[in-house]
Amino acid sequence: MGMDLLSLPYDEIAALVADMGYPAFRAKQLRGWVVKGTPVEEMRNLPRDFREKLIERGCHVTLPRIVRKLISQIDGTVKYLFALSDGQLIESVVMKYKHGNTICVSCQAGCRMGCRFCASTLRGLTRNLAPSEILGQVMAAQNDLGERIANIVMMGIGEPLDNYDNVVRFLHLVNAEDGLNIGYRHISLSTCGVVDGIRKLQKENLPITLSISLHNIDTEERKSLMPITNKWSVEELLAACCDYFAETGRRISFEYTLIAGETDSVSRAEALAKGLKKQLGSMPIHVNLIPLNTVSERDYQKSDSEAVMAFQKTLVARGINATVRRRLGPDINASCGQLRLNGQDEG
Ligand code: SAH
Repeated sequence: MGMDLLSLPYDEIAALVADMGYPAFRAKQLRGWVVKGTPVEEMRNLPRDFREKLIERGCHVTLPRIVRKLISQIDGTVKYLFALSDGQLIESVVMKYKHGNTICVSCQAGCRMGCRFCASTLRGLTRNLAPSEILGQVMAAQNDLGERIANIVMMGIGEPLDNYDNVVRFLHLVNAEDGLNIGYRHISLSTCGVVDGIRKLQKENLPITLSISLHNIDTEERKSLMPITNKWSVEELLAACCDYFAETGRRISFEYTLIAGETDSVSRAEALAKGLKKQLGSMPIHVNLIPLNTVSERDYQKSDSEAVMAFQKTLVARGINATVRRRLGPDINASCGQLRLNGQDEG
């Protein structure tokens, strides 16, 4: 394991350097290399004895290695399969928007949330990613593309609030001025509804955007789609959202996957509008509709475009702001819910 320098904020690097008996300016130099992802052996302006001592202590800077890169011929979306230092494989996706490049990062190898329609959870959870392994996806993609990544969505493999401490550490690191310096307002974090995590996050004072994967407003029905509902009901989830908004003033967006015959009827749209308004009060509501992306192991089907339009219209008519998420990277299985642990595309 050793000491993973890329997971350390500046003050911890400074403490390490002081502990090793080197002057403070060496901490600045070291940090300058670390945030570039440079291996310790290649930190040229550091004295040899200092580098050797770092290596003796097991200090290292490691970026995920690109195993495969797929580029969508349709919209230029790029999907990376990365290997971590222990050989675990994860995926990240870079989407090219007019407002800049957005990366969708993974935060766990696998996932234990068990959502029935999602490919990322099919093999369960292998392990949490370290802060450096989440950050490294952004750095490695940016190096590879030679273009700045301006926005981050934590919507890849894994449940961010199930790897809470490392995710919060990552958020601080990626925001650091001497690091990638990506503003919190350019970062979205999506959760399937880990209520204690939402309540903790509310206290962190990070003006990121929170997204809730709702998919069903009825607690009993949601249980069969998303097992997390057995732990926290929809009512408890929405109450946590209200408190989050009241304390942070940050708008929350709701993701709602349209599954044919499961979640996409007009009467469900009516119930959704009614339930959200009743339970969220005056909070501004935005619903992002995601037509299901098919996963070969599951027999759920996507809603047809008429059903999607009717669902959206029903929400809008009831005063709920609703948009339909554009599907990116359809030819490379890079869309929501299609990222998987082994990187093997469904066939
Ligand atoms: N665990 C977090 C982060 C994953 S985000 C969460 O659940 O929010 C990925 C988004 O894609 C979530 O909203 C998820 O519910 C949605 N999703 C999963 N499988 C999907 C599928 N097959 N089609 C469309 N969206 C899917």
